[in-house]
Amino acid sequence: MANPRQAVKKIIDEVIAMRRDFHANPELGFEEYRTAEKIEEYLQALGLETERVAKTGVTAIIEGKSAKPLLMLRADMDALPVEEVNNLDYCSTCPGVMHACGHDAHMAMLLGAARILNDWRGELEGSVKLVFQPNEEEAGALAMIKAGVLDNPPIDAAMGLHLWSPLKTGKVGINAGAVMGGLDIFKITIRGKGGHTAYPETAVDPLIAAADIIKTAQRIQTRDISLLKPTAIMFGRISGGSKANIIPDKVTLEGSVRTLYPDYEEENPIERLKNLAENVCAVHGCGCCFEYYRENIPLINDQDLSHLASEVAGEMVSVTGLVSDLVCMASEDFSEFTARVPGVFVFIGTGNKEKKSDYPHHNPRFNIDEDSLSLGVEMLISFALKFFQKGGVK
Ligand SMILES: [Zn+2]
Ligand SMILES: [Zn+2]
Repeated sequence: MANPRQAVKKIIDEVIAMRRDFHANPELGFEEYRTAEKIEEYLQALGLETERVAKTGVTAIIEGKSAKPLLMLRADMDALPVEEVNNLDYCSTCPGVMHACGHDAHMAMLLGAARILNDWRGELEGSVKLVFQPNEEEAGALAMIKAGVLDNPPIDAAMGLHLWSPLKTGKVGINAGAVMGGLDIFKITIRGKGGHTAYPETAVDPLIAAADIIKTAQRIQTRDISLLKPTAIMFGRISGGSKANIIPDKVTLEGSVRTLYPDYEEENPIERLKNLAENVCAVHGCGCCFEYYRENIPLINDQDLSHLASEVAGEMVSVTGLVSDLVCMASEDFSEFTARVPGVFVFIGTGNKEKKSDYPHHNPRFNIDEDSLSLGVEMLISFALKFFQKGGVK
């Protein structure tokens, strides 16, 4: 088997070209039709059999010397409803849609890795399942799981990566345990009784109840749940009222609850918030309707696989390039895979101020440093090789 770094060098121009093509042709979640076709075309040209899963998802298996262990490598496919303001030769050609999270690069890197691993399949001590997943931004992983992506044959371990602009190019971030937040989205409708602001005693004011809920909710994260269990209850939208001298009938509050610990069910911050909102509303004589949905569960990296990935990254970028405390409250639906099979999610630094690739993800000026692509491809293939060398996870 040849050297991974040398092998990546030979194909990196192709990876860059594919990334630019995906970037110029972004598609929103579950609408990645062109994207899926391009992926299928490429994999089929390698001689791989592809399968469509969950509308626009694509999978393929690279069969090594043995069917087991079976390692899943995943890339997400969707773009965002963002109008790109960059001035690049390969800017988005689709108004209002942009690859502003780096998923264009994730697909290109996985395709590059697929080409190399497929060339070496005769020597692989295991097999690789390539998973191109649609709609990451709205929890598309579950649709693939429901369609059986983790079964027949069963996956032994999963690995995914994300280019990360807050991390400098050349660095790799790997952390065991909780690395990305769980996310609940809630909406509280507070019903009062409308009236004239000159006669508040004749009305029931939902605005003052709303203000109390916003203020009191902060106690959940700072008083009720341990400070060592990060919980962020944030309000993003308040709606209600039509004029300065009118007490409105109702007010709605919308927001998010983010957590970064595995025992979410025990702490149950969303249930605490529901109780708090209902009680505050009762004090004010208001009605309360609390709605929420769980968008993502926290992403928990498997201990053994994290150590394996750190070992691989350490060989690639040395100890100084390895960041072992990268955790964030943003969420990512790779968590659905790691909740079912041992998995590890790796951050590849792509931030470079001079190249203006340090804008935050989802920003209309977001761009990656293409020099980070080779490290990403190398991480995918080197991780697979090390995983097979160790005989999988025990
Ligand atoms: Zn994103
Ligand atoms: Zn993303």
